[in-house]
Amino acid sequence: MNDPRAMLPDVACRRALRRRLLAWYDDHARDLPWRRTNDPYAVWLSEIMLQQTQVETVKPYFERFMKALPTVEALARADEHEVLRLWEGLGYYRRARQLHRAAQIILTEHGGRFPRDPEAVRRLPGIGRYTAGAILSIAFDAQEPILEANTVRLLSRLLAYAGPPHSGEGQRILWATAEILLPRRKAGRFNQALMELGSEVCTARAPRCMDCPVAVLCRANQQERQQEIPLAKIKQPQQPVREAALVVRRRGRVLLLRWPEGRRWAGLWDFPRFPLAGESHTGIDRELAENVRALTGVMVAPGRRITTLTHGVTRFRITLDCYEAEYVSVDKTAATLLETRWLRPAELADYPLSSTGRKLANLVQKNAR
Ligand code: SF4
Repeated sequence: MNDPRAMLPDVACRRALRRRLLAWYDDHARDLPWRRTNDPYAVWLSEIMLQQTQVETVKPYFERFMKALPTVEALARADEHEVLRLWEGLGYYRRARQLHRAAQIILTEHGGRFPRDPEAVRRLPGIGRYTAGAILSIAFDAQEPILEANTVRLLSRLLAYAGPPHSGEGQRILWATAEILLPRRKAGRFNQALMELGSEVCTARAPRCMDCPVAVLCRANQQERQQEIPLAKIKQPQQPVREAALVVRRRGRVLLLRWPEGRRWAGLWDFPRFPLAGESHTGIDRELAENVRALTGVMVAPGRRITTLTHGVTRFRITLDCYEAEYVSVDKTAATLLETRWLRPAELADYPLSSTGRKLANLVQKNAR
């Protein structure tokens, strides 16, 4: 690959781009809760929450989290149970657990102050090159570049880079572009302006080039190639999967288990659930009972189906059949088992659950009233 800098606009164009973009941002920046401060903890929290999640979804979660755990130290000292309960519904729970672990490292190794050294920041769990650049530039005005979904699209179009943006070559070119465009001062504001323009104007399907402050500098616009740049990823179709969950009852309480390390919802509580092997409903009771026993050591008598929930997890489209079941006994010979608790319906509100677990818990609570 040739020097990627050869693709970049010249010095005069870069200056014009910075000036136009920052002026546009002064007038158009959305008022978002995490933009009212440059506290590195708040910036960090917002950046982690915004990974794979829409701004509007994040807003209430961010405000609730900051209210409950307003500092790195408060987060570090919190119970994981509380952190996951605050995160419940945002998905990708690994983010919350890594955030919690990183806060503990900041407390023990950096005296509770968010580190300013890029290497130290990147060593924290859950923080990659993009997140480190965003926190350091926004909170400390460090001259650190960023590259995420919105800026990948925007920079690809500005350069008219038509190759795959997530390839090795694409990443080298786009990171080099993000770096060379950065102004010496106001790097954080400039990075935020890039993301804002990508998210609000240079959108994926219908970029609003007529309203774009950098349209005269944009090569895709000049070549009328906005629709074909960046090269779209080929979407894999979701794979259908059938699973079952059981509400096991025993003297007014229901059985919950806690997913261990390495499982999809590690750290969260849930009703016993598992993939179903059988295609038909013949022999389903045996399959349900055997799976609950294997997970928890509890022997059950399955009953009627209560509801069916559908939801997507990564590349899977899951159809979850939910059943009632009665406790029978405990199999004391069962091997490795998960942590379990018998809870009164009212207690379910205190436990962090997966989103389907919460839907089922709401049904249980409603029926208990
Ligand atoms: S001119 Fe259009 S394609 Fe180019 S950066 Fe602006 S909105 Fe995006």
